[in-house]
Amino acid sequence: MRIALLGFMLESNGFAQPADEAEFRAKLYLEGEALLTDVRAPGSRDPGGIKGFVEVMDAQGPWTPVPLAITSAGASGPVEDGFFRRFLAHLEAGLRAALPLDGVYIESHGAATGTAEDDPEGILFTAVRDIVGPDVPIVSTLDLHANVSQTMVAKTDVLISYITNPHVDMRERGQDAARAMLELLAGLRTAKAFIKLPILPPSVSLLSDRGPYGEAIARGLEMQKDPAILNVSVLGNFSLGNGPKNGMSVIVTARGDQHAADTAAREIATTLWSQRHRLVANLTPIDTATQMLRAACDDPSHPALLFADVADNPGGGARGNTSAILKAFLDAGIDRTAFAIHFDPALAAEAHAKGVGARFAAHLNTAETHPDSAPLTASAQVMALSDGRILGRRGLLADRTLDCGPTAWLRLEDRIDVVFVSIRHQCMEPAMLEHLGIDLRHLRGLVVKSRGHFRAGFDDIFTDAQIIEVDSPGLVTPMLHRVPWTRLPRPIWPLDNVEWTAPDSVAVGS
Ligand SMILES: [Zn+2]
Repeated sequence: MRIALLGFMLESNGFAQPADEAEFRAKLYLEGEALLTDVRAPGSRDPGGIKGFVEVMDAQGPWTPVPLAITSAGASGPVEDGFFRRFLAHLEAGLRAALPLDGVYIESHGAATGTAEDDPEGILFTAVRDIVGPDVPIVSTLDLHANVSQTMVAKTDVLISYITNPHVDMRERGQDAARAMLELLAGLRTAKAFIKLPILPPSVSLLSDRGPYGEAIARGLEMQKDPAILNVSVLGNFSLGNGPKNGMSVIVTARGDQHAADTAAREIATTLWSQRHRLVANLTPIDTATQMLRAACDDPSHPALLFADVADNPGGGARGNTSAILKAFLDAGIDRTAFAIHFDPALAAEAHAKGVGARFAAHLNTAETHPDSAPLTASAQVMALSDGRILGRRGLLADRTLDCGPTAWLRLEDRIDVVFVSIRHQCMEPAMLEHLGIDLRHLRGLVVKSRGHFRAGFDDIFTDAQIIEVDSPGLVTPMLHRVPWTRLPRPIWPLDNVEWTAPDSVAVGS
């Protein structure tokens, strides 16, 4: 069995700067044997899909993996078209050279847009199908925030999305993909149903353990106990994509039984639609958050607080360097509080040049042009420095390595600690602070630039009741009425009044 392995992962924020080749290569680019070596070793850089896929395939017996390439820019803007075309051509050449193939696994995010294309994944899946032909199984995993097109469903045999948010199941879904591949190789033919819902949910309403979205995922898992159903994927969409693929999606893949797929998809979509009014954001204004932290600092019996700077989450393509909360906390005299992680390569480099212990006037965001990333100046002391290579210990990054580039822990105004990094990432992993020597258990406040993945990383220190989602400026604000939408399919709820019922025809052929 010769199975090709490849990956293209990008969550495109329609309002962020394009993701170019340099950004993809800085974040993740593995090809050939190096890809296979990575996923078979501890501390893998692969997000998890290929690792899980290879684990199951290795366990079932002899096979021939054909590792082509994977690249990921995490979340950023639309993919720059020149790089997308070059990467696609590289994969196409690799596939043609590898023929004959028995199957293809694609690790995808599914919410990419491009500077020239609305549906990069649809183009990729079509290209793969055109090369391998109609009878070779193609299986892909998708992030739970994927913006799915009809083409993506049509060109693959099964799409499998994550079911946990925070995403701690990327490897397990890769394992599911391998098990589906083995069934397809044994002769299974799938029947697929796909429903697009005109719902644009605020990002913070899509946690998988609560609310209508969690209930839909739970119902899908229940349905998968029916032998007729191979997979149920309920996709929350990435609202800030601002593209024609936006909207929540339901994909049901049955073991040949089209009626079972259609019925299951209609039930989940109809229930989600009826519960959409519960998909809401309840954010705390910055001044209220400041008062809450003031109270926690004044009263040692008060639990410490974690503030999520959800709108400036680099995991949704935000800049990762807005300073509104930091300014408010500095102005209010707050102490024993840490911020992580603030993207500012120039300041990190300056701290590295000056060395540990140095004191200087830190100028934040000197290289930034976005108005949300306001400049800020504060007295600073260099507390610790690192190369930013982190081995995660919890949640999404457990046992994975991540490169934040040259990193510096600065103490501002002798009161507030900030971790500055040189590669933009969201703060979802305690090691991002701890590797520098910051003791999270002695803080009164912690501010993380993350929408929700931090919940799986800091849950041993901060309970749900200690977490505050702050209403701050940023490119991924869940306050959807403030966003200058241009390319959404309209009408879409909650921006518009929409009448909707599940369509009569939901089956997808190939
Ligand atoms: Zn996601």
